[in-house]
Amino acid sequence: MSKIQMITPLVEMDGDEMTRVLWQMIKDELLLPFVDLKTEYYDLGLKYRDETDDQVTVDSAEATKRLGVAVKCATITPNAARVKEYDLKKMWKSPNGTIRAILDGTVFRAPILVKGIEPYVKNWTKPITLARHAYGDIYKAVDKQVAAGTKCELVYTSPDGTEERQLVHQFDGPGVAMGMHNTVKSIESFARCCFNYGLATKQDVWFSTKDTISKQYDHSFKDIFEDIFEKEYKEKFAEAGLTYFYTLIDDAVARVIRSNGGYIWACKNYDGDVMSDMVATAFGSLAMMTSVLVSPDGCYEYEAAHGTVQRHYYRYLKGEMTSTNPVATIFAWTGALNKRGELDQLPELCDFAARLEKATLETIESGLMTGDLAAITTMEEPKTLDSAAFIKEIRSRLENM
Ligand code: NAP
Ligand code: MG
Repeated sequence: MSKIQMITPLVEMDGDEMTRVLWQMIKDELLLPFVDLKTEYYDLGLKYRDETDDQVTVDSAEATKRLGVAVKCATITPNAARVKEYDLKKMWKSPNGTIRAILDGTVFRAPILVKGIEPYVKNWTKPITLARHAYGDIYKAVDKQVAAGTKCELVYTSPDGTEERQLVHQFDGPGVAMGMHNTVKSIESFARCCFNYGLATKQDVWFSTKDTISKQYDHSFKDIFEDIFEKEYKEKFAEAGLTYFYTLIDDAVARVIRSNGGYIWACKNYDGDVMSDMVATAFGSLAMMTSVLVSPDGCYEYEAAHGTVQRHYYRYLKGEMTSTNPVATIFAWTGALNKRGELDQLPELCDFAARLEKATLETIESGLMTGDLAAITTMEEPKTLDSAAFIKEIRSRLENM
């Protein structure tokens, strides 16, 4: 059998711990036998990030800007314990944060639906893709506990030096206060990312804020989305038979629960943080969530939404059997290969990605799965496989297709 050819390489970002182990298994069993895989390899494993003073992370993001499509393995974000464990020079920043800052992108998270793993919300028959704004608001705020008698004001200093003051609160008793911001540029690029992703995946876009209460702050988000949609996307959406729909966040929450799914729900930073965890949990399993970072100029970085599964890795190091779910990592690869196929007009590569997804889902639907899914499936008598055996089952299905 001749291997499927590629033109442009994918940016390959290797990672840490259990997902690094799965990464190699997926390549060896599911990709290299079938595809003449072209990648530009960057080792984002913590050891090499430390050796290169994190330059490798920056280089991998720059490569994504140049080549357009990346696939990333989960990576450790160091904390104090990791600094000790890996004897690090310093507590390096989150690679995802670094990559996101360079690509200026929005993260879209979507669940992988499979028969036998039922969402807690019965009517969710299609995935809900959550788009979270990744800049500003409470994540870049200043806040303070204040004593009784404190007068809290916002002071705006214009370029010409004129000051304008706004009273936040005159505190009779002790309290708390916060100042936060966002920028029109960031909100505009968030809007463009959402509309582009809607067009690319042929899904409606919903957006929600609390504009009735936050008449300047949230209302600006609403107006900016509306403006960009009217000027740049209205016709394209109409041609594609898609809609853009704005509603108050309270109303959105109620509609989402009653919906069948199948759309992109764009949320402000905090709403997206909370709602993405809610939606992920309600769909069944973190190990079945994919994540893609999309930049406003159309670069894509695919990954699994979960982390490096540290606990499983320590068991693996002791030689114990681990049944870590590789599905979201497989789908990161298929997402990237499919996008590369689209951009390079290689229908065979897109077909391969679709077959690998199908083989993966059919394996689960036949009752063979990893432990995390066996624990929540509605199937009777599922068979739990370790990661390697599960991947081998997918391979044999793929070979038969
Ligand atoms: P995690 O790796 O997502 O794992 C948390 C727990 O969820 C696991 O212990 C496991 O539960 C379950 N789980 C997650 N993925 C699974 C899978 N594929 N198959 C089976 N079970 C799965 O989160 P963490 O342990 O909090 O974080 C570990 C490291 O990952 C941290 O250093 C963190 O910085 C990093 N992280 C990276 C990313 C990223 O690169 N995108 C995202 C999040 C976290 P059981 O142990 O109960 O089986
Ligand atoms: Mg969260």
